[in-house]
Amino acid sequence: SLLRAMARSIELSSEVLRAVAAERRATEDALHQATHDALTGLPGRALVLERLDQLLKPGRVRAGETATVLFIDIDRFKQINDVHGHASGDQFLRSVAKALRGVVRGADLVGRLSGDEFVVVTCTRRPQDAETLAKRIIEQVSCPQMLAGKLVSYSPSVGISYSEPHDTAESLIENADMAMYRAKDQGRGCHASYDASMRELARSRAATETELRRGIREGQIVPVFQPVVSTDGCAVVGFEALARWRHPIHGLLPPSEFVEVAEDTGLIIEIDRLILESTCEIVGRWKQRYPHLPLRLSVNVSARSFMDPRLSERVDKALASAGLKAEDLYLEITETMLIEDIDATTQVVDQLKRLGIRLAIDDFGTGYSSMLYLKRFPVGILKIDRSFVDGLGQDLEDEAIVKAVIGLARALGIDLVAEGVETSKQVSLLQELGCQFMQGYCFGRPLEADQAEALLAGSMALQMTGQQV
Ligand code: C2E
Ligand code: CA
Ligand code: CA
Repeated sequence: SLLRAMARSIELSSEVLRAVAAERRATEDALHQATHDALTGLPGRALVLERLDQLLKPGRVRAGETATVLFIDIDRFKQINDVHGHASGDQFLRSVAKALRGVVRGADLVGRLSGDEFVVVTCTRRPQDAETLAKRIIEQVSCPQMLAGKLVSYSPSVGISYSEPHDTAESLIENADMAMYRAKDQGRGCHASYDASMRELARSRAATETELRRGIREGQIVPVFQPVVSTDGCAVVGFEALARWRHPIHGLLPPSEFVEVAEDTGLIIEIDRLILESTCEIVGRWKQRYPHLPLRLSVNVSARSFMDPRLSERVDKALASAGLKAEDLYLEITETMLIEDIDATTQVVDQLKRLGIRLAIDDFGTGYSSMLYLKRFPVGILKIDRSFVDGLGQDLEDEAIVKAVIGLARALGIDLVAEGVETSKQVSLLQELGCQFMQGYCFGRPLEADQAEALLAGSMALQMTGQQV
């Protein structure tokens, strides 16, 4: 009976042990689930921060080595979801995780911070080590693969930061993030390393963003109007609306001072909308006062506004409330926008087509050479880029390009506007070549609304127009 009692107690204790082990496993699973990303199985943001903080403690990194963070962001990831579906997006993210695990060393940490943002934490001896790793990451992630039955390739942009004595996990990741943005600016699919100027730039951009938000709210974004004239007779046939920021301290600022920040933050959608609505209203009034003038309005539309599904409805409303017709308006977009985001834009283009709104292709000749879109989209105007007009009379190649574009437009029944016309020599050459419309400092700089109206009323001469803005 003693033996029986012992056997029973062994049984009991092994049962207890099993239960304890099971419970520990469950806790570990729960912990793993809480700290790891379910899609890729990689550590999530919190765990990455925790481990990186550990690594930054004194004495954790071997002498002569530096804790290094690589921030990896997939270029145009949104497009994968939009074009190939979310399941493909997930599949792609899993393949990124696999590629990253494949290129790092055993002691390195790979994590997923969010969406399409990944991070690699490693220790390097020289900057070249990190750069080599970045190159291998770009190579591996960019490998073509099948998504929803199509062979596709998406590159990542990689930012690198090296730890300095005062760095925390947060600051090190932030720095790598900023460097990643630099890599995107440099054309995507490449890597860049953090330097202190990036933090300064980020700070000044954040300040501009705050100010711009207030500026938009307080009506500081205003349109100016640059005349478009006909080549025969040089009569005003319309205006291009250009945005200005009437800054309370710095005065009237051109787009070069704020459009980039506006694009990055999405504020450009608000700006485009403000300019569209205000200029339609103004031109609507002009049309009532000068009904005999063939007045056309062109407004610039950024890529983000153009892909916004609300665009056509906004345009429709702006026209209706100003008493304008679809044919009175052109939306200026660059050719790169049509090509790069073709799937996302066709829906918008279809809606615009139905409304009878036409496009003007801005900076024509500087983007892609594929001209398929000229047939697919409702293009009413080509604007020959200033860089070609500049060379007229001096550069035979530029002249050949202008000639070819004029021929192309004529064959397709599309109107042509030469941009940035500055000299009378250019004017006479464009007249000779048969370009129909011109725009440039030679005829007038962008004007404030009342001056543009004075121009229409004939109370102001076309050339040397009043105050220049
Ligand atoms: P863009 O659409 O190509 O506009 C033409 C730019 O060339 C304008 O600069 C205009 O002032 C300038 N320009 C006109 N004639 C001449 C000339 O003879 N010589 C020279 N050197 N320049 C000339 P601006 O107003 O500074 O605008 C710059 C760019 O900012 C525009 O280029 C456009 O891409 C963007 N932008 C302006 N307004 C808006 C807007 O409301 N929305 C959006 N999304 N972008 C805008
Ligand atoms: Ca334009
Ligand atoms: Ca242009």
